[in-house]
Amino acid sequence: MSTTHATSETFDRNARAALADPVLHGALRNLADSFVVRRRNAIASAGDWEDLRERARSIKDETLLHLDEYLERFTENAEKAGSTIHWARDGKEACEIVLGLVRAQNANMVVKAKSMAGEEIHLNEALEAAGIEPVETDLGEWIIQLAGETPSHIVVPAIHKTKQQIADLFVEKVGIEKTDNVDVLTQTARRILRQRFAEAQVGISGVNFGVAETGTILILENEGNIRLTTSLTKTHIAVMGIEKVIPKFADLDVFLKLLPRSGTGQRLTAYQSLITGVKNNADDIGPDELHIVMLDNGRSRMLAHPLTRQSLACIRCGACLNACPVYQQIGGHAYGSVYPGPIGAVITPQLFGLSKAKQLPYASSLCGACREVCPVKIDIPALLLHLRSEIAEGSTRESQPTRKLGESIAFRMYSRIWSRSGTYALSIRAARLAQRFVARNGKIGKVSGMLALLVPPLGAWTERRDAPVVAPKSFREMWREKKK
Ligand code: SF4
Repeated sequence: MSTTHATSETFDRNARAALADPVLHGALRNLADSFVVRRRNAIASAGDWEDLRERARSIKDETLLHLDEYLERFTENAEKAGSTIHWARDGKEACEIVLGLVRAQNANMVVKAKSMAGEEIHLNEALEAAGIEPVETDLGEWIIQLAGETPSHIVVPAIHKTKQQIADLFVEKVGIEKTDNVDVLTQTARRILRQRFAEAQVGISGVNFGVAETGTILILENEGNIRLTTSLTKTHIAVMGIEKVIPKFADLDVFLKLLPRSGTGQRLTAYQSLITGVKNNADDIGPDELHIVMLDNGRSRMLAHPLTRQSLACIRCGACLNACPVYQQIGGHAYGSVYPGPIGAVITPQLFGLSKAKQLPYASSLCGACREVCPVKIDIPALLLHLRSEIAEGSTRESQPTRKLGESIAFRMYSRIWSRSGTYALSIRAARLAQRFVARNGKIGKVSGMLALLVPPLGAWTERRDAPVVAPKSFREMWREKKK
């Protein structure tokens, strides 16, 4: 199934189209109505939430600081338990490894559990190009696979679709009678997917956490499809970003409290599959072979910089997407990346190149809502500013300075004038005089329309919000008067 979709390079255009889509806005209303409220209630049941966040962050910091050692320990213990570890420098290598493993089983179809790493490396496209049919088994992923689309949310891939659209899709692609009964729709998916599970020789999944101490992988889910993908098939292939490793089994206690609460507002997901190697006896449940594909794909680059390193602490809960006023308006597809929202705006340029995603670090008002909700305390606004400065200064090998001459001159003048108290005071007096022509009812904005006429770039800034007028007296002036 071929998929055509927006790219990060055209974010501006994608966002404008999304803003004009009333059906998308209807679908996105679920975010605020369900996830945000459910999350708030769930974290109240977790005891000291701030303490949990601190602990999670320090575990991640410690792991990332010594990632090489923990990866070595994970590999050693996973292999001891019967897993086979593969290393992939980039997405292409990871796909080749997976294809080789699938071909070795003579399989022409694989069942797949939801995996962001799989989306990141475009595994479905690689499988299809090799004549192997990938069957998504997560309900949301299956729906968007039927629709020929990409996920629009890290946790809820089909959040952009209304019930009506899904019902129409089932009529068209599965051939059932039209119904908006959710039970009938899910039972239909269940019936079709159960058949595919029974036929599959190979199952492919992602990994939520890999425990260095035991070589165990943990995968969380709510539908039971991952359990079937990883236990009914003879060969299980797990694609795992190298940052997913954590030091100890006991550390899972922290992350199992944080991730479901933050992601879906649950105290615990319905299923937690802890997989350590392969089955020992023929009668045991589980695969004969477990292959773990360790994916770098730009992560070492992020690790090397002390600021961007924290991007790798992300546990893909999706809370920052739900909290983001930009994401709430435009949804995920506008970002043109498998990783949308605030964390997507941070990691997409780092994984795929600044030149391919230059507009994403600007897709934020820097309100800080993402930082507030992040269970591992990633400072997303600081990372966005860092990427903006790289783009503006052209300070990376692949980014060229994007400053326009006029903008550059304006900022240099601004810096000179406002860094000296005399010229600063003069500029404020001049602004007080000038605002008489552009202010209405104590505000400068669209209401007057004059700003757009006089200084077009500033007019664009105030098109959707008002700027306050300069106060009649500055603090310094009031201070001087009082002293007198
Ligand atoms: S950045 Fe934080 S809030 Fe956003 S998905 Fe990652 S862990 Fe969740």
